[in-house]
Amino acid sequence: MSNVRPSAPLPDHKAAAQRYAHGTRARYQLGRCRCFSCRVANANYETQRQAERRRPWRVHHVANGSFWIVRNRETGEIALRAASRARAFRCRDRLNASLEPPRPANQLIDTKAVIRHCVWLKTVGVGLRTVSVRSGVSRGVLCRILSGDIRKTRRGTADKILAIGPSDRPGAAFIDAAETWRLLEDLIALGYRRGWIAQQLGARRPALQLRRDRITVTTARKVRRLYLEISRRDARLQKRFGNKVAGEQSTRERVATTLRSMPMDEIARGLARLLQTK
Ligand SMILES: [Zn+2]
Repeated sequence: MSNVRPSAPLPDHKAAAQRYAHGTRARYQLGRCRCFSCRVANANYETQRQAERRRPWRVHHVANGSFWIVRNRETGEIALRAASRARAFRCRDRLNASLEPPRPANQLIDTKAVIRHCVWLKTVGVGLRTVSVRSGVSRGVLCRILSGDIRKTRRGTADKILAIGPSDRPGAAFIDAAETWRLLEDLIALGYRRGWIAQQLGARRPALQLRRDRITVTTARKVRRLYLEISRRDARLQKRFGNKVAGEQSTRERVATTLRSMPMDEIARGLARLLQTK
């Protein structure tokens, strides 16, 4: 038969037992493990496969035309003809999912997907604190999910966490770019090169590629910091724009000086008081 792949030899069961973790179908099938979690993994797979078979939309390969169709096995209706196998399966899943009743938000589901999502979010710069603030799920609950203390959670809770993405990164929010561009144009008017400014802002290539309409909070902060830095050593900037920005800087420096002169335990007590009243 044409659709039989020339398969790589299967690992023997000892090799498979080393390669696959408990709680996987591979460990059950190839590693011949019959422990509880492997049996559960295998049963889940079978259940899912049978559920898949009961769903009306299915993918068929039309061999002589070498394309794929998505066909309703009850009505015979064909929803898609495509050369791409992946596209056909996506279409099938979408159609089948649209037939399912909406899933109740209070249904208890496994936390594995949530954990994976939080781990991934961390790699793209979204920490647990941000996840908690944006999702409204308390930090305590998040920690207990991640530690494995809680194994099941409401679907509604999981959905709130899963909806968070890299755009929720602190500083990734967009703000109006006008103020930032005023500062940049001040610098450019004084002869600072655009390419040099870009590199000071962390760009790899000397090209100032910022949008005129909106800008991320992070970029706006970087521009402000650069402006302050330059205004400290460029007398022209102090004279021409010795303004709000410089004033804010001196306030910050005064606060820093005050803090440095205070004993640590006094600062700690003050912080504790601030946090208590919140
Ligand atoms: Zn096992």
